[in-house]
Amino acid sequence: MPETVIIVGGGPVGATLALTLQHKGVAVTMLEARAKGAAYQDQRALALSYGSRVILEKLGVWEKLDHQATGINAIHISQRGSFGRSILKAKDHDLPDLGYVLSYGALTQALDETLAAFNGINIIYEAEAQHIEPALDKATVTFNYEANIQQLSSSLLVLADGGRSLGDISGIARETKMYGHDALVSKVECELPHNNVAYERFTPMGPVALLPNGARSFSLVWTGKQEQVAQVMALEDADFLNQLHRHFGDRVGRFLSVGKRLTFPLKLSYLNPVTASHLVVIGNAAQTMHPVAGQGFNVGLRDAYELAQQISSTDPADWGQDFMLQAYQQGRKKDTKRGLIFTDFLVNLFSNDIIAVSGVRGMSLGMIDLIKPLKSSLVRKMSFGSRG
Ligand SMILES: Cc1cc2nc3c(=O)[nH]c(=O)nc-3n(C[C@H](O)[C@H](O)[C@H](O)COP(=O)(O)OP(=O)(O)OC[C@H]3O[C@@H](n4cnc5c(N)ncnc54)[C@H](O)[C@@H]3O)c2cc1C
Repeated sequence: MPETVIIVGGGPVGATLALTLQHKGVAVTMLEARAKGAAYQDQRALALSYGSRVILEKLGVWEKLDHQATGINAIHISQRGSFGRSILKAKDHDLPDLGYVLSYGALTQALDETLAAFNGINIIYEAEAQHIEPALDKATVTFNYEANIQQLSSSLLVLADGGRSLGDISGIARETKMYGHDALVSKVECELPHNNVAYERFTPMGPVALLPNGARSFSLVWTGKQEQVAQVMALEDADFLNQLHRHFGDRVGRFLSVGKRLTFPLKLSYLNPVTASHLVVIGNAAQTMHPVAGQGFNVGLRDAYELAQQISSTDPADWGQDFMLQAYQQGRKKDTKRGLIFTDFLVNLFSNDIIAVSGVRGMSLGMIDLIKPLKSSLVRKMSFGSRG
């Protein structure tokens, strides 16, 4: 029997790891709590960087998504009540696009369809992990499947559950900072065409982003203090659209319609160095970021891709050994840290309404626009992570 990697969680990050390992001939068992296809209708918009597209191209997934993704050719960054603004354009950085907007459901379906062509993978749907026990020679997952409690062990177990499902696991400690802010996400239609421009606007309430999604629509991410977001969440559609117009300004004209609205609390969370043997944590389970910089999902995808390189270049007899896990953690440290610091910096700078800070951020936006190397560096980091 070949050594098998066990992945807990078949969301976009877990499935990307499984697929990359299939390309490398590594056997995988993946446990997924949901039924097959349950996420395909999830309209949550994910912001993919150009670097994430390159990874999905290599894996044969992008060709299934190309027609469903909306390209971002430019990002317009501005601040309410200030003239400072910056425009990042793909063509100034020799990129076909700065990024893409894609639904969570479309990505999950494309990954599942691509995985179906491989026979080195065993996906167990409706299998909910309840506990993970790392030990000296292996890690064991206990899960509920068809009303039975079962166990599987491997010398390498990967946790990609999005970070919300499992309690304490020995050797794993998480630091969490709650911003006290919520994000309201939805899809809105506007009066003016989007021309593939994404808008990021910093307001005293919090950042608000409009990402082009489909022919005429934008995905909206509207953030603010929990009580403020609760207030706009409770508005009737017409009042909501008017308030958004007042809040966002007139760059895309009036807002004509809004889809289903959803809110979730914003937090920054990351793991202290994992000391458990035979266990790796990736994706949102390893780090959760404020959506302001569109970094979280892309860092998770790079976790999956880089871990697969590490696994396939390690002798299976050494899987899960401390030196292997440390090499992986060391390799990912810079990228993760940069994503976390950059995101937290933006949140703190732009959520602070002190006049002096407000002046600085208006100025810094203007400066980003003037200093070409700074802009290029920002675009490279956003596109390719620490390798940019
Ligand atoms: C409500 C919400 C809205 C979001 N909106 C946006 C947005 O607008 N834009 C954006 O860029 N990002 C958004 N994000 C973040 C984005 O969804 C994540 O970056 C991305 O989904 C991370 O992928 P992942 O595979 O690590 O985790 P997930 O997508 O959470 O996938 C985890 C998978 O593990 C499975 N699972 C969970 N627990 C278990 C268990 N115990 N046993 C077995 N399987 C399990 C789940 O069913 C799921 O399939 C949002 C997140 C949330 C929670």
